[in-house]
Amino acid sequence: MHGRSWKAFAIAMAVVIAGYQLIPDDAVWVTCWQVGVGWAGTAAVVAGSRRLPRRDRLPWWCFGAGIFANSTGIAVAMYAENVLGWDDLPTPADPFFLLLYPACAAGLALLIRRREPGRNWTAMVDVTTITTGLGLLAWVYVIEPAATEAGLSLFGRSVQVAYPVGDLLLLAMLTRLLRSGGVRSASFWWIAGALGGFLAGDTTWVVLGNLGDVGWALEEVQWFRRCIDMMFLTAFALVGIAALHSDTRDMGRPAAPRPPRLSRMQLLSLTGATLIAPAILAGQLAAGQVKDGPAIVVGSTALFLLVVTRMAQLVRQVEQQSRQVRELSRTDELTGLPNRRAWNDELPRALEHSRRDGKPVCVAVLDLDRFKQFNDSYGHPAGDRLLKEASAAWHGALRQVDTIARFGGEEFTVLLPGADATAAVAVLQRALAATPLGQTFSAGVAAWDGIETSDQLIERADAALYEAKDGGRNRIVPAKPRIYAHIRSSA
Ligand code: GH3
Ligand code: MG
Ligand code: MG
Repeated sequence: MHGRSWKAFAIAMAVVIAGYQLIPDDAVWVTCWQVGVGWAGTAAVVAGSRRLPRRDRLPWWCFGAGIFANSTGIAVAMYAENVLGWDDLPTPADPFFLLLYPACAAGLALLIRRREPGRNWTAMVDVTTITTGLGLLAWVYVIEPAATEAGLSLFGRSVQVAYPVGDLLLLAMLTRLLRSGGVRSASFWWIAGALGGFLAGDTTWVVLGNLGDVGWALEEVQWFRRCIDMMFLTAFALVGIAALHSDTRDMGRPAAPRPPRLSRMQLLSLTGATLIAPAILAGQLAAGQVKDGPAIVVGSTALFLLVVTRMAQLVRQVEQQSRQVRELSRTDELTGLPNRRAWNDELPRALEHSRRDGKPVCVAVLDLDRFKQFNDSYGHPAGDRLLKEASAAWHGALRQVDTIARFGGEEFTVLLPGADATAAVAVLQRALAATPLGQTFSAGVAAWDGIETSDQLIERADAALYEAKDGGRNRIVPAKPRIYAHIRSSA
């Protein structure tokens, strides 16, 4: 029953909303129909939210309160107009109508919070950009005219201004919802559609209001006016469907963090929003009079600053990611030690330091003894654990200034700055004793002779390692000095 109730409700609402075109042209009929759909939506929200865990219900109660107040406002408006003969603005219905905006915005804010527990500054900047662009448009065509409308009290004008401001608030929250991470279940799209429906309905009224005589004429066409009403009725029904849908509980579930990306749609809407200010200016210039100069200056300044902020965020992000990539490319995944690439950068630098300071430097190559046998006996994962534990133990046994790197497989290299061969062997003996699980290693140690290249130095240490293996393993062997041809010939 629970899984299907949303379908039954959706079909019933579709029939009732379509039937709205057929009812008599009578205020009582029209009002009852609209209020009925609104209250049915509210009932669906109550029923749907009762199935949710307690902590997930609050956003739905907000949505329910919003559509209940808004649809009840229709009855109040009818009563005020037809029974009380009230035709001043504001009407007693306005508070009911207006409650929709803060209630839905609060519901959305709660949902977004659940879906994205952390702060998402990029999303905030994007939402502010879109709201600022459209806000400027709303200011020029709706808010400013309403705020200066003749024949209205200050209170009346404030109430008229509250509608477009409420729409902007809803638009900002809806954009933020669409921009949020989290699961995009069916309920997500139903609720987004519902809020989109309210916005579309309000926008249609605004456009009609700005069309002058054409607008008046269209408003007089019954089926057309009813089509606009149907947008609101559909929105009421969609909120109910969203609440009844079995996916509802997924709405507030946070999703795994996704890598930030800029979709084509986002880029288009950001571009569109930032071009609104110059478009309005161009329009007014073409009409021969710039009426909203100050608003355009403020709006475009805000938009420029937002674009620069977004750019700074992106540059920061790229910088941070390239640091991470560099760090990753120089670290061995298993042991967390510097890898061969990091070692190859580090060694020539250490030799250069030694040349300048005149202090000795040693390198050691060490290799776990009979590691293949260990793997064969205990399994590869146990071998991995040994590599991890051994490298941590060696790291602890070495001096602070020493660097140990994973050269490959079970082979490690150690850089011992300031140590001569004897001191280096002593340090490595400590590391050998620290090897966990009764395992051992063999190592060759070479002190830099001040002439040879890094590769030659490693080569000597490696040769000493082979000697250590041949000599029975579990030992550290100092490398033989390099014999240079010109020294031999002069001897
Ligand atoms: P020796 O004492 O002569 O060094 O003998 P050995 O068995 O340690 O040397 P050998 O080169 O024959 O085998 C090295 C083994 O190390 C073979 C390979 O499977 C294993 N090995 C290399 N890298 C890893 C790794 O990342 N994890 C695990 N578990 N094993 C690895
Ligand atoms: Mg080995
Ligand atoms: Mg080996």
